[in-house]
Amino acid sequence: MSIDSISKEVKKLKRKYDEPNPVKLCRDMKISLLHHPMGLFEGACKGFYMEQSRKQVIVINSELDEYLQRIILIHELGHALIHKNVPGIKTFHDFNLFDETSHYEYEANIFAADFLLDDEEVLKLLNDDMSFFYCSQHSVRSC
Ligand SMILES: [Zn+2]
Repeated sequence: MSIDSISKEVKKLKRKYDEPNPVKLCRDMKISLLHHPMGLFEGACKGFYMEQSRKQVIVINSELDEYLQRIILIHELGHALIHKNVPGIKTFHDFNLFDETSHYEYEANIFAADFLLDDEEVLKLLNDDMSFFYCSQHSVRSC
């Protein structure tokens, strides 16, 4: 999926639900959202998305900072939206914020970066931890 079409998906989503809060967005999209403590050690799971008997579920590591949880949640929403029909893959586990090893992870990051473009609170908090956002933005710009 091209960056352009991901960007269009984000716009469509925002227009359809008119809901900037990703937690409420999950509810509106009928995606089950769970929070579960999964540790803060290096390599701990940050969150994951799965599909089971047509039910979409997102699980977020509840021990992460709140703003990180928000970013992960939007990343998982990206999987839920743009990777719903990927054959053979029903689960996306996320261990790193910025994982470029997989095309799907890259797409979900682009989705999250695009979604968060006008989220000033997150932008402010990310000032200290720019790697994720900077890299994503950089990828958007260079394409
Ligand atoms: Zn992912």
